[in-house]
Amino acid sequence: MERINMFLVKYAEIGTKGKNRYVFEEILCKRIRNRIKTLGEFDVRRDFGRIYVEARSDFDYDTCVDYLTKIFGITGICPVTVGEKEDYSFVSQAAIQHMQAAFDDYDFSFKVHCRRTDKTFPMNSMEIEAEIGHDLLEKYESEGLHVDVHDPDVMVEVEIRDKVYVYSKVLPGPGGLPVGTNGKAVSLLSGGIDSPVATYMIAKRGVEMHAVYYNSPPYTSQRALEKVQKLGTIVSQYAGPIALHVVNFTEIQLAIYDNCPHDELTIIMKRFMFRMAQDIARLEGADCLITGESIGQVSSQTMQSLGVIEDAVNIPVYRPVIGMDKQEIVDYSERIGTFETSIEPYEDCCTIFVAKHPVTKPKLEVIKRHEKKLEGIIEPLYEKALKEKQIVILK
Ligand code: ATP
Ligand code: MG
Repeated sequence: MERINMFLVKYAEIGTKGKNRYVFEEILCKRIRNRIKTLGEFDVRRDFGRIYVEARSDFDYDTCVDYLTKIFGITGICPVTVGEKEDYSFVSQAAIQHMQAAFDDYDFSFKVHCRRTDKTFPMNSMEIEAEIGHDLLEKYESEGLHVDVHDPDVMVEVEIRDKVYVYSKVLPGPGGLPVGTNGKAVSLLSGGIDSPVATYMIAKRGVEMHAVYYNSPPYTSQRALEKVQKLGTIVSQYAGPIALHVVNFTEIQLAIYDNCPHDELTIIMKRFMFRMAQDIARLEGADCLITGESIGQVSSQTMQSLGVIEDAVNIPVYRPVIGMDKQEIVDYSERIGTFETSIEPYEDCCTIFVAKHPVTKPKLEVIKRHEKKLEGIIEPLYEKALKEKQIVILK
């Protein structure tokens, strides 16, 4: 069977960016090149307002399709057969070659659609459509292939340009915008269900992601850290490489535990998590924080708690799952492939230092007053934790 070694890349929203369009396209090309470079030699190019990926060496077709269909900015990819166009027989041959490579059986309806930008080609689009329809029927009619001009199962696209290009399938991509077109964010990534989804959703808008994970050894295990790394790696398949900042939060948590009312532990701890994430954002040139918070999900996510926590920072905090039900977030995580990992049973630092009856309506003045008890104690611990954080690149 003739192998397919080219893909037409479809993208939607970046086409609406006017003069910046080529910038977006270039960034998408770069993302594609980086993603598939380990699979073989590829030429990724912009051509006639389109993006083509052409293999120049042997490559693993299925892995390549898997990688491409996860890149943000791509709405779909079409496997393409390319042929010469010296005369009609070449065009017909390309169409048949394509059908052979693209399908295992031929029990479906089809229609041929032709676009001819090379006006020197001696047949017009309608003539080409009719001839190819005829040739394909001749070859595959006995196997069930038939024409349906109104509602075909398969649209065979034939384009006559510098060469002839034939394609018939769109393998859907995730959509969104290419990462690198909308700045940088720092995502607070825990091992739960919500924050990986939140990270994915913001990255999908073209935002380059840093992630921060606070762990509390020996109260949290190496396995818990590995779980977060695994989650970040799954998201990086769509979002590109993610720098994960791993912060040892144990001493900070113990200081809060020793000095503050226990029903306020989670709130005060979250305020320190946000502060440090803001510092990391400044170090990395990021403009916002991302969390997986959703209104009312737990006591630290009531309206009042969210407000008191956010008060600790001046950087914008975005919470893409804020209005979603748990089940909706679960469905989303199943779709993007993080769910199975998220439900692995490793403890999170928030669940270890948690009070029996945490406040649900914290008052900012009260929290601030209690935080004052940490003055002179927490600063060196905070500086040390920030200084000693480790960065792991997930990809
Ligand atoms: P998730 O499912 O994302 O773990 P959750 O429902 O467990 O969220 P919380 O533990 O209250 O909720 O955390 C709320 C948000 O705070 C998380 O979505 C995440 O963005 C951030 N967060 C919580 N724990 C950590 C941590 N250990 N490291 C980094 N960020 C964290
Ligand atoms: Mg959590």
